[in-house]
Amino acid sequence: MVVTHNKRSRFTAKCAVKECGWKFHTASIDDRNEMFQVRAYNPEHTCGAGGRNLNKKILNQLLV
Ligand SMILES: [Zn+2]
Repeated sequence: MVVTHNKRSRFTAKCAVKECGWKFHTASIDDRNEMFQVRAYNPEHTCGAGGRNLNKKILNQLLV
């Protein structure tokens, strides 16, 4: 997994395998309340790697 953007209002991650379709993208819908909405999420790794644990870790970080 590679985090491409990790700012207050935006968080984007993708698989370390360039050709893999796994991606996770959120954007802030309310800066004051720090609410995020998942804009794009493809949970399936076309590279063959399992990413469920990583996904859960990311989600927990967002929710803190
Ligand atoms: Zn992958």
